Amino acid sequence: MPRYDYDLFTIGAGSGGVRASRLAGASGARAAVAEASELGGTCVNVGCIPKKLMVYASHVRDELEDAASGYGWTIGERRFDWPGFIEKKDAEIRRLNGVYQRLLHAAGVEVLEGRARVVDPHTVEVEGRRRTAANVLVATGSWPWVPGIPGAEHGITSNEIFHLKRQPERVLIVGGGYIAVEFAGILHGMGSRVTQLYRGGCFLRGFDDALRSGLADEMRKRGVDLRFMANAVEVRPRASDLCVTLADGSTVECDQVLFATGRRPRTEDLGLAEAGVALTEAGAVRVDGYSRSSVESIWAIGDATDRINLTPVAIHEAVCLANTLFNGTPTKPDHAGVPSAVFSQPALATVGLTEAQARDRHGRVDVYYSSFRPLKHTLTGRDEKSMMKLLVDPGSDRVLGVHVLGPDAAEIVQGFAVALRCGATKAQFDATLGIHPTSAEELVTLREPVGADVAD
Ligand code: FAD
Ligand code: NDP
Repeated sequence: MPRYDYDLFTIGAGSGGVRASRLAGASGARAAVAEASELGGTCVNVGCIPKKLMVYASHVRDELEDAASGYGWTIGERRFDWPGFIEKKDAEIRRLNGVYQRLLHAAGVEVLEGRARVVDPHTVEVEGRRRTAANVLVATGSWPWVPGIPGAEHGITSNEIFHLKRQPERVLIVGGGYIAVEFAGILHGMGSRVTQLYRGGCFLRGFDDALRSGLADEMRKRGVDLRFMANAVEVRPRASDLCVTLADGSTVECDQVLFATGRRPRTEDLGLAEAGVALTEAGAVRVDGYSRSSVESIWAIGDATDRINLTPVAIHEAVCLANTLFNGTPTKPDHAGVPSAVFSQPALATVGLTEAQARDRHGRVDVYYSSFRPLKHTLTGRDEKSMMKLLVDPGSDRVLGVHVLGPDAAEIVQGFAVALRCGATKAQFDATLGIHPTSAEELVTLREPVGADVAD
């Protein structure tokens, strides 16, 4: 008779929880996962997937304009049908929920609907029923955080934007991170008038400075009213719209305010502290290199641990945990060199160090840089610049960072991430032939450093 009901009980069937549960089940372990909402978590339901579908929808406007201005097409009436699009998007998300259900079932994982709570280091309660497990995995993700300014409750977050009944005509976006920048592009492309406020000097803190300001220029050229050193201090509802007061006393009238001001780990009311699990000040589960919490039988992965909050990272942490617990190969997740993209318009993607980080860590850095008008726009006349940047350690010749701003940036950088993972040198980049004509070939034809650092 086994001592516990399960070998692994996972709380949260999102990116990380589903993968950990499936791998546990597939390895023969007795696994269960509790989900309080929809299978697939943030990424599938209110994150990566519906967001990317919205990016596609909003790109159509540019494509139609380019076709008409440069490529000989006559385009008729253009109108974006928000409810029609949302309906199609929802159908696809429901299909994905079903796929997750089947994948878990096929791996022999028991799926429990309802909110789970940790009762003690080996006991979890779901909807009043208790189960025991040798290992408990916290994979509860994160939740939008909104500043406590007066009237903030009249705004929405990314959770709601995916389900609005009507497209807002005028939107004010607060924040300068991934979500704010992506939705500024999405909503502008769909035809809303967008004002975006960022409290600092330039948005996307942590990304390479040249690309941050390059993206800001491109967004402004497209018509996004992008305001830096600006923040909202009050949201006031009026008869038919909202009036937002900014820190400088000016006001912005709009139909919707989207707060994209960060997310916090979703660890409240989970019984973690009572069970002895140490949390950070922001509420993240403190874990060691193997994703083990301060309680031996309780583990945590994904956004709940606030390490790098991306879906592929949550999945990687899940795979490592399954190896540790069920394959006899204790594995630490590797958080170095994680590529990422902001699905802005144009897109921005990056792997490795920014110029500032590279200078900080390596002292001298060679900077290779190119800014150019993509071939497509020689005919459309669109005033849009792409940017490519390589950072190289002159001592070892290793490429330290690759940064791309422009169409398909994410698709381009994914491939270069492999090269960086393999420790590619600038000489190897140079020895690689380009695919012509592409934008990506710039990255293997950058010959002269533009910003060789002389300070050593
Ligand atoms: P989640 O996927 O959030 O899953 C947690 C699950 O736990 C949820 O289903 C939740 O309902 C459930 N849960 C919580 N508490 C309980 C409880 N007590 N009992 C039972 N169930 C519970 N990342 C990318 O890599 N690329 C992108 O393009 C991207 N776009 C994004 C766009 C948006 C708008 C947002 C918000 C995020 C985006 N992300 C993106 C981030 C990505 O979605 C997260 O990093 C990822 O989903 C984290 O996975 P997770 O398993 O930690 O948590
Ligand atoms: P981010 O942490 O990326 O950005 C939050 C933004 O809000 C920052 O610009 C921050 O400013 C600003 N902010 C914080 N507090 C306040 C405040 N009180 N008043 C005004 N502004 C404030 O969070 P997001 O919500 O955009 O996204 C959450 C996470 O989800 C991301 O970090 C990322 O990990 C993931 N994600 C990934 C995507 C992708 O891979 N493409 C897409 C969407 C989300 P400051 O910089 O000055 O602190």
